[in-house]
Amino acid sequence: MRRIQLANGTTVEVECLSCALVNGVVEPDGGVIYESDYFHAHQDVAYPIRGLVILASKRHVKSLDELTEEEKIDYIQVLSKIRESQRKVLGIEYVYYFYNEDTTHHFHTWMVPRYEWMYDFGRSVESVRPVLLHARNEMNDDENMEEVKKSIAALTVELNR
Ligand SMILES: [Zn+2]
Repeated sequence: MRRIQLANGTTVEVECLSCALVNGVVEPDGGVIYESDYFHAHQDVAYPIRGLVILASKRHVKSLDELTEEEKIDYIQVLSKIRESQRKVLGIEYVYYFYNEDTTHHFHTWMVPRYEWMYDFGRSVESVRPVLLHARNEMNDDENMEEVKKSIAALTVELNR
Protein backbone atom coordinates (compact mmCIF):
# COMPACT_ATOMS: atom_id res chain seq x y z
CA MET A 1 0.00 0.00 0.00
CA ARG A 2 1.08 3.51 -0.70
CA ARG A 3 -0.12 6.63 1.04
CA ILE A 4 -1.28 9.32 -1.41
CA GLN A 5 -2.33 12.86 -0.60
CA LEU A 6 -5.27 13.98 -2.76
CA ALA A 7 -5.90 17.50 -4.07
CA ASN A 8 -8.53 18.14 -1.42
CA GLY A 9 -6.05 17.38 1.35
CA THR A 10 -7.29 13.94 2.35
CA THR A 11 -4.92 11.02 2.38
CA VAL A 12 -5.74 7.58 1.03
CA GLU A 13 -3.85 4.32 1.16
CA VAL A 14 -4.07 2.44 -2.11
CA GLU A 15 -2.01 0.04 -4.21
CA CYS A 16 -2.71 2.06 -7.34
CA LEU A 17 -4.47 5.44 -7.45
CA SER A 18 -5.79 4.75 -10.97
CA CYS A 19 -7.44 1.53 -9.78
CA ALA A 20 -8.94 3.40 -6.83
CA LEU A 21 -10.35 6.06 -9.17
CA VAL A 22 -11.77 3.77 -11.86
CA ASN A 23 -13.32 1.49 -9.23
CA GLY A 24 -14.93 4.38 -7.37
CA VAL A 25 -12.90 3.86 -4.18
CA VAL A 26 -11.64 7.43 -4.59
CA GLU A 27 -14.11 9.94 -6.01
CA PRO A 28 -12.34 12.51 -8.22
CA ASP A 29 -13.14 16.16 -7.37
CA GLY A 30 -15.70 17.27 -9.92
CA GLY A 31 -16.78 13.68 -10.47
CA VAL A 32 -16.45 11.25 -13.34
CA ILE A 33 -16.51 13.04 -16.70
CA TYR A 34 -17.15 9.97 -18.80
CA GLU A 35 -17.02 6.22 -18.54
CA SER A 36 -16.94 3.61 -21.29
CA ASP A 37 -16.64 -0.17 -21.07
CA TYR A 38 -12.87 0.03 -20.70
CA PHE A 39 -11.99 3.64 -19.84
CA HIS A 40 -12.66 6.27 -17.23
CA ALA A 41 -12.23 10.03 -17.65
CA HIS A 42 -11.80 12.58 -14.88
CA GLN A 43 -9.89 15.76 -14.15
CA ASP A 44 -7.06 15.87 -11.66
CA VAL A 45 -7.96 19.14 -9.94
CA ALA A 46 -4.53 19.16 -8.33
CA TYR A 47 -3.68 20.69 -11.71
CA PRO A 48 -6.53 23.19 -12.07
CA ILE A 49 -6.44 23.84 -15.79
CA ARG A 50 -9.77 24.32 -17.53
CA GLY A 51 -10.52 21.32 -19.75
CA LEU A 52 -7.62 19.13 -18.63
CA VAL A 53 -8.74 15.50 -18.75
CA ILE A 54 -7.15 12.28 -17.59
CA LEU A 55 -8.27 9.15 -19.38
CA ALA A 56 -7.43 5.98 -17.46
CA SER A 57 -7.93 2.35 -18.45
CA LYS A 58 -10.16 0.36 -16.13
CA ARG A 59 -7.76 -2.54 -16.19
CA HIS A 60 -4.48 -2.37 -14.30
CA VAL A 61 -1.96 -2.37 -17.13
CA LYS A 62 1.01 -0.09 -17.66
CA SER A 63 1.41 0.22 -21.40
CA LEU A 64 -0.56 0.84 -24.55
CA ASP A 65 0.57 -2.47 -26.04
CA GLU A 66 -0.95 -4.38 -23.12
CA LEU A 67 -4.45 -3.28 -24.09
CA THR A 68 -6.64 -5.79 -25.89
CA GLU A 69 -7.82 -4.98 -29.40
CA GLU A 70 -11.23 -4.04 -28.04
CA GLU A 71 -9.69 -1.76 -25.46
CA LYS A 72 -7.50 -0.10 -28.09
CA ILE A 73 -10.53 0.68 -30.22
CA ASP A 74 -12.45 1.98 -27.22
CA TYR A 75 -9.42 4.08 -26.21
CA ILE A 76 -9.13 5.93 -29.50
CA GLN A 77 -12.89 6.42 -29.71
CA VAL A 78 -13.15 7.84 -26.19
CA LEU A 79 -10.07 10.00 -26.70
CA SER A 80 -11.60 11.46 -29.88
CA LYS A 81 -14.96 11.98 -28.22
CA ILE A 82 -13.37 13.91 -25.36
CA ARG A 83 -11.28 15.95 -27.78
CA GLU A 84 -14.37 16.84 -29.78
CA SER A 85 -16.19 17.93 -26.61
CA GLN A 86 -13.25 20.05 -25.46
CA ARG A 87 -13.44 21.87 -28.77
CA LYS A 88 -17.21 22.16 -28.83
CA VAL A 89 -18.08 23.25 -25.28
CA LEU A 90 -14.82 24.84 -24.13
CA GLY A 91 -13.45 26.18 -27.41
CA ILE A 92 -10.12 24.44 -26.89
CA GLU A 93 -8.03 24.81 -30.03
CA TYR A 94 -4.96 22.73 -29.13
CA VAL A 95 -4.36 19.80 -26.81
CA TYR A 96 -1.13 18.12 -25.72
CA TYR A 97 -1.38 14.40 -25.03
CA PHE A 98 1.02 12.37 -22.99
CA TYR A 99 1.29 9.17 -21.08
CA ASN A 100 4.29 7.72 -19.32
CA GLU A 101 4.90 4.09 -18.46
CA ASP A 102 7.29 4.64 -15.57
CA THR A 103 4.54 5.61 -13.16
CA THR A 104 3.23 4.09 -9.94
CA HIS A 105 -0.30 4.52 -11.32
CA HIS A 106 -1.61 2.48 -14.24
CA PHE A 107 -2.24 3.38 -17.87
CA HIS A 108 -3.62 6.90 -18.16
CA THR A 109 -3.33 9.61 -20.77
CA TRP A 110 -3.15 13.29 -19.95
CA MET A 111 -5.01 15.65 -22.26
CA VAL A 112 -3.62 19.10 -21.50
CA PRO A 113 -5.24 22.02 -23.32
CA ARG A 114 -2.91 24.65 -24.69
CA TYR A 115 -3.81 28.23 -23.75
CA GLU A 116 -2.25 31.58 -24.67
CA TRP A 117 -0.92 32.18 -21.14
CA MET A 118 1.17 29.01 -21.40
CA TYR A 119 3.48 30.63 -23.94
CA ASP A 120 5.06 32.46 -20.98
CA PHE A 121 6.43 29.06 -19.97
CA GLY A 122 7.81 28.09 -23.37
CA ARG A 123 6.81 27.67 -26.95
CA SER A 124 5.89 23.99 -27.03
CA VAL A 125 6.23 20.71 -25.13
CA GLU A 126 9.08 22.06 -22.98
CA SER A 127 6.47 24.24 -21.25
CA VAL A 128 4.23 21.40 -20.10
CA ARG A 129 5.90 20.58 -16.77
CA PRO A 130 6.35 24.26 -15.76
CA VAL A 131 2.73 24.92 -16.77
CA LEU A 132 1.45 22.04 -14.62
CA LEU A 133 3.53 23.16 -11.64
CA HIS A 134 2.36 26.74 -12.08
CA ALA A 135 -1.25 25.57 -12.17
CA ARG A 136 -0.77 23.41 -9.08
CA ASN A 137 0.97 26.07 -7.04
CA GLU A 138 -0.47 29.37 -8.27
CA MET A 139 -3.90 28.69 -9.76
CA ASN A 140 -5.63 26.87 -6.91
CA ASP A 141 -7.64 29.94 -5.89
CA ASP A 142 -11.42 29.74 -5.46
CA GLU A 143 -12.21 31.70 -8.60
CA ASN A 144 -10.16 29.47 -10.89
CA MET A 145 -11.36 26.31 -9.12
CA GLU A 146 -14.91 27.46 -9.81
CA GLU A 147 -14.08 27.83 -13.52
CA VAL A 148 -12.46 24.40 -13.56
CA LYS A 149 -15.49 22.79 -11.89
CA LYS A 150 -17.76 24.48 -14.45
CA SER A 151 -15.66 23.13 -17.30
CA ILE A 152 -15.83 19.62 -15.80
CA ALA A 153 -19.61 19.92 -15.58
CA ALA A 154 -19.86 21.17 -19.19
CA LEU A 155 -17.74 18.29 -20.49
CA THR A 156 -19.70 15.79 -18.42
CA VAL A 157 -23.01 16.98 -19.85
CA GLU A 158 -21.72 17.02 -23.42
CA LEU A 159 -20.12 13.58 -23.20
CA ASN A 160 -23.13 11.90 -21.61
CA ARG A 161 -25.98 13.12 -23.72
ZN1 LIG B 1 -4.18 0.15 -11.23
